[in-house]
Amino acid sequence: TSSNLHGYAPICLGLEDFYIRRLYLRIQDCFGRPICSAPDAWFDVVERYSNDNNKTLKRTTKISRCLNLGSYNYLGFAAADEYCTPRVVETLNKYSPSTCSSRVDGGTTLLHNELEECVANFVRKPAAIVFGMGYVTNSAILPVLMGKGSLIISDSLNHNSIVNGARGSGATIRVFQHNTPSHLEEVLREQIAEGQPRTHRPWKKIVVIVEGIYSMEGELCKLPEIVAICKQYKAYTYLDEAHSIGAVGKTGRGVCELLGVDTADVDIMMGTFTKSFGSCGGYIAGSKELIKYLKYTCPAHLYATSISPPAAQQIISSIKVILGEDGSNRGAQKLAQIRENSNFFRSELQKMGFEVIGDNDSPVMPIMLYNPAKIPAFSRECLKQNVAVVTVAFPATPLLLARARICISASHSREDLIKALQVISKVGDLVGIKYFPAEPQKQ
Ligand code: PMP
Repeated sequence: TSSNLHGYAPICLGLEDFYIRRLYLRIQDCFGRPICSAPDAWFDVVERYSNDNNKTLKRTTKISRCLNLGSYNYLGFAAADEYCTPRVVETLNKYSPSTCSSRVDGGTTLLHNELEECVANFVRKPAAIVFGMGYVTNSAILPVLMGKGSLIISDSLNHNSIVNGARGSGATIRVFQHNTPSHLEEVLREQIAEGQPRTHRPWKKIVVIVEGIYSMEGELCKLPEIVAICKQYKAYTYLDEAHSIGAVGKTGRGVCELLGVDTADVDIMMGTFTKSFGSCGGYIAGSKELIKYLKYTCPAHLYATSISPPAAQQIISSIKVILGEDGSNRGAQKLAQIRENSNFFRSELQKMGFEVIGDNDSPVMPIMLYNPAKIPAFSRECLKQNVAVVTVAFPATPLLLARARICISASHSREDLIKALQVISKVGDLVGIKYFPAEPQKQ
């Protein structure tokens, strides 16, 4: 499965020791030395398949083949695809896996320009710049945009790449309560004397950073309210769509499309290609001036090797499929499928008595375990029955808010989902995590 480490997040794929070991490693003796050393194998090694829509993975030890409920492969593009794969192979043959050059020193091919144009059109912004890694996109861009004398107001549950980028920028950072527009407004009011013209504010600029779908909460951003507040207080908005771009919205264009927000009202749109597009890398989309500025100044653009050409081709091709430009309606089907799968799975879990947080339409659905001691049993028992789930606990979540985080894909069949529900229900009874009475079954 893919993992979203949120800094030090212990994420277990049936690897119960992992969680415990990480905690041990943080305990130090009176001289500040860790009391135990790093074990040899922290992470489970898995074998993945691309010929079955990547919905299964195989652990190289113990268990044979598992249904993968932890991958961010939202649209099923991280797999052999009749449109994308031949084009990716062709690109590999033409360009090789890497340009071995930075963007400004021979690493910009026609494909890179096509990718940036394609992304800008897809997210409905005038221009875009792409990077080889999603994490780096946040952590390298924020220090270029922000600095001493600027203010970053960040959602309390923003991803670690945002936190690191914000810290590295040297800007002042204030945090607002997760997805709470009223608290954002309170923080902004504290920072700005209301009614003052923009030039009288104590800050050179203010940026409010939020995510489209929160990866540990499965929650949609309250974007319309947040955008309205940012407009009122003349703060810039920065939206990380890692989990929402391609996954939600009528044509896959993310939370703006889903929630009816005009993309012109979001100043900086960020996203990654590692989820819905089955590739790697990240993007920033915005005004032509912003993107030009980043292209001239961002060290990760100037000094890092450009995105791998086959990865770039995968993104272009998957966007074409999503938009129906491949001449089929597979894109629309995938979008309808992920929505249907997500809403079916969420409502079935709720009917069984689980506490599932997050919003409808979100493919991310955390099942609350609460007690961290339940993590090993839950993931191990699911895995014994060949269902791989990711569990998350402290410090990625507060200590007593441990959860299993299910990620649904358009490539899961109804049969897969029913099998997974049966296993999760049994394990839920065993571990004792059904907190509500189950709905009576219809005869
Ligand atoms: N932003 C968010 C919200 C994420 O969840 C992630 C990772 N899952 C990233 C950025 C980093 O993206 P990548 O894994 O593509 O480097």
